[in-house]
Amino acid sequence: MMRNLFLIVAVLVGVNSSAQWSEQQESKIQNILSQMSIEEKVGQMTQINLDVICVGEIYKLQEPHRIDPDKLKMAIEQYHVGSILNCGGHAYPIAQWHEIITGIHQASLAYQQMHSYESKIVPVLYGIDAIHGANYIMGGTLFPQQLGQAATFNPSLVKEAARITAYETRAAGIPWNFSPVLDVGRVPTWSRFFETYGEDPYLCSVLGKACINGYQGMFGRENNGEIDEYHVAACMKHFLGYSGARTGKDRTPAYLSEIQLKEIYRPSFQVAIDEGALTVMINSGEINGIPVHANPKILIELLRKEMGFEGMAVTDWEDVIKLVNIHHVAENLKDAVALAVNAGIDMCMVPNDYNFTTLLIELVKEGRVSEARLDESVYRILKLKMQLDLFDNPVPFLKNGYKDKMSATFQQTAIATAEESITLLENRKDKSGSLPWKNGVNVCVVGNAANQLIYQNGAWSRTWQGTDTIWNDPSRLTTVQAIQKVNSGKTVCALTQWNETNAKKAKKLAKGSDVILVCLGEKPSTEKPGDIDDLNWGKSERQTIKWALSTGKPVVLVLFENRPRLVNDWVDQCAAVIMAYQPGEWGNMALANILFGKTNPSGKLPFTYPRYNQTLLTYDHKHSEELDPNFGNKAFNPQWPFGYGLSYSELIYQNIEIQEVQNATGTRSWNVSVEVKNNGDQNAKESVLVYKHDRVASVTPHVKKLIDFDKKEVLAHSMTKFSFVIDQEDLKFVGANGQLILEPGIWDIYVGNLSTTIEIKP
Ligand code: BGC
Repeated sequence: MMRNLFLIVAVLVGVNSSAQWSEQQESKIQNILSQMSIEEKVGQMTQINLDVICVGEIYKLQEPHRIDPDKLKMAIEQYHVGSILNCGGHAYPIAQWHEIITGIHQASLAYQQMHSYESKIVPVLYGIDAIHGANYIMGGTLFPQQLGQAATFNPSLVKEAARITAYETRAAGIPWNFSPVLDVGRVPTWSRFFETYGEDPYLCSVLGKACINGYQGMFGRENNGEIDEYHVAACMKHFLGYSGARTGKDRTPAYLSEIQLKEIYRPSFQVAIDEGALTVMINSGEINGIPVHANPKILIELLRKEMGFEGMAVTDWEDVIKLVNIHHVAENLKDAVALAVNAGIDMCMVPNDYNFTTLLIELVKEGRVSEARLDESVYRILKLKMQLDLFDNPVPFLKNGYKDKMSATFQQTAIATAEESITLLENRKDKSGSLPWKNGVNVCVVGNAANQLIYQNGAWSRTWQGTDTIWNDPSRLTTVQAIQKVNSGKTVCALTQWNETNAKKAKKLAKGSDVILVCLGEKPSTEKPGDIDDLNWGKSERQTIKWALSTGKPVVLVLFENRPRLVNDWVDQCAAVIMAYQPGEWGNMALANILFGKTNPSGKLPFTYPRYNQTLLTYDHKHSEELDPNFGNKAFNPQWPFGYGLSYSELIYQNIEIQEVQNATGTRSWNVSVEVKNNGDQNAKESVLVYKHDRVASVTPHVKKLIDFDKKEVLAHSMTKFSFVIDQEDLKFVGANGQLILEPGIWDIYVGNLSTTIEIKP
C-alpha cells in the first residue's frame, strides 16, 4: 500500500519512480538489518523442512499433515527461522497449503508484534520443488519433464508452462520455486537426466531463459527484480557442474577442465543471471576434488565477481553436514558450517534440525565467521523477500482467488506441450502398423506403462520419487484410456506385467488386434534412488517387447524414460518407435493424438540417443572421437542423433542463402536463410537447427555446435522461410587461455542437409 502511494506520488511529480522505489526499499532493508541480533541474522540464513514443524516425526508425519503449534513457535521464536521448504512427503490440496502458509505467517506475525518491533516483521519465505508444473499441489497442472519440454525446441511453450506453474504455485501461497535445472545433461546414465534441457549448452540457455521469464514474469533485471503475486522467484540449479559426474551416479565427483566449465556448464547459468534469476542452488557434488559448497573460487570469485550474480544462494539438502560425512573435508559440523558460510552460501537447507543455527551463532561470537559475512547474506535474503513483496503482501491468496488455476486452458497447454515434445524416431512406412493409424484400427496395448500413470509423470509428481500410484489422479487418462477415447476400433490392454501365464493369455488378445503398442516405462526415480548400473532395459521389459515381436503382429514401441535406455536389439523390427519422455498426466492424450494423426509430431531429440552402453558420446564431440578401430571415421554411431525427429510430412530443406552484414559497430554478422517445403497433406511444425563447424582452430574444434534454432509451422504443400542472424560472437570458442576468442578461418554452417560457409580473413 505504502509503496503504491509512493509510486503514485512519484509519477505525479515526474521523478524516476523505479530508482526512488529502490532507494526506499534499500533503506528499509538496511534499517531492518541494523536492528537484527546475530541470532536473528543466523535464523534468516536457516531453512528447515516442513516436517520439523508438523505433528509427528520427521519423515513419519501424522496424517493429515498439520502444523504443530509448539514446534512452529520454537522455529520462529527460538531460532528465528527465515525459510521453510518442501511438503511432508506428498502433495496437498490447495486449502491445506493455505492453512500451512497462513499458520506460519500468523505465528511469525504474533511473535514479532508481541515484541513490538513492527519495522522488523520479516516474513518467512516458503520454497518448493515445482519441477514440471505445480507437482506438490493436488490437481496442479503437470507438464512434460524438462527433457520433454526441451524436445519441443519451443521457448514460448516452455515459458508458458513456467508461467502456469508459477501461477498455481503462488495460488497455494508459495513464492519460491527450486527450478529450473540448468545443468547440462551430458551423461545419459545420470539419474536426473530427465530434469535437464538435454545435452546442448545453447539449448539449455535459451530454454532456461524462457523458463525464468515464465516463473518471474519479468525480463532481464527490470523492476529491480520485483515479482508480482502471480509469479515466483526462480532458482537456477545446481551451480556448477552437477550434471558432469564422471560415473553418471548422482552426487559423485566431476572432473572438469576450465574449458569444459566455461563452454558447457556455465553458459546456461550466465544467461539466467543476466535474465534476472533471483536465486541459485549449489551443486551437492565436488569438482576437481573440492566440494562446491566449500569452494569460494566458485561461489564468490566465479558466481559473484565474474558472472555478476547478486541474488541469494541456497545450499542443497543437508549439504553442510555432507562436508563432514560424505566429502570428508571437515572434521565436524562446526568446521563445516564455517567452511560453507565463508565460502559464500547465503542460506542453508539444513533442513531437519537446528545445529547449523546454533553452531553459526557460536562461530560468529568466536570470530571464525564475521558478522559482515552474515550481513551480506541476510541483506540478500531480505532483499529477495522484498522483491517478492512478502513484507506487504505475505499471503496474496487471501485477497486473490487465482481463478485460472487448474483450468481447462492450462491443461490444454500441457497437452500442446506434450504434443510438441513427443518425438517420432522410426516410422517404416513400408511396414504395416506404421504411423499414423487410421481410426478404427484394433490396438493391443502392452507393457508396464500401458495402463499406469506413474510412468508418464515420472519423479517429482505428487511425491518426490513419483512411484506411489495412490497419488495418480484417477480422472487423468492412461495410454489405453486415451487411445480408447480417440479410436473407434477395439483397444485392449494386455500383458502389463510379463510372466508366462500372462503372456499366454495376452496371445489371444494380440491375435484379434491389428497392431501391438508396446509401452515401456522406466520406473520413476530421481537423485540417488535413480542411480543405475546399466542402460539396458530390465528383464521384464525386455521380455515384453520380445514377446510382442514374436507374435508376428506389427509392433509400435513407445518409450517413457528417465534417460535413454538401449533399444538397439528391437528397433529394426518395429513399425515405428516413439520417444514420449515423461510427458505428464496429460501426455497420453497427446500421444493418442499423434498415433492417430490428429497431430503431426514435431519433437526432436535434445540429446544423442546411444546405441551401446559403452559409447556415450554427445553430438558435439571431437573429430578424434569418430575414429574407429579400423582407422575409419565410423566410431560415432548413435541410435539416433541429437536434433533427430520425424514428421508425418515429407519436409524438404532447400535454397540456403547467406549474406554478410557489416554492422555500424565494425563487427560482422551473417544473415542465413533456408526454406522448408512440406510435401505432405498435413500441416507440420518444424524446428530448424543451425550448427557451426570450425574447420581449423587452436583448440580442437567440435564436429559441430548448435548456434541457433527456430520452430515454425509449415503448412501442407507449401513452404516456410526460416531466417537467422549469425553474429561474430557466435563463432568464438574458449581458447587455451580460458578466454573466449575468435580466430580467423573458415566455418561450415549446417542447416538440415544443407550447408554454407563463413570466412574470416586474418
Ligand atoms: C535436490 C534439489 C531440490 C532439493 C529440495 C535436493 O535433494 O537435489 O534439486 O531442490 O532437494 O527438495
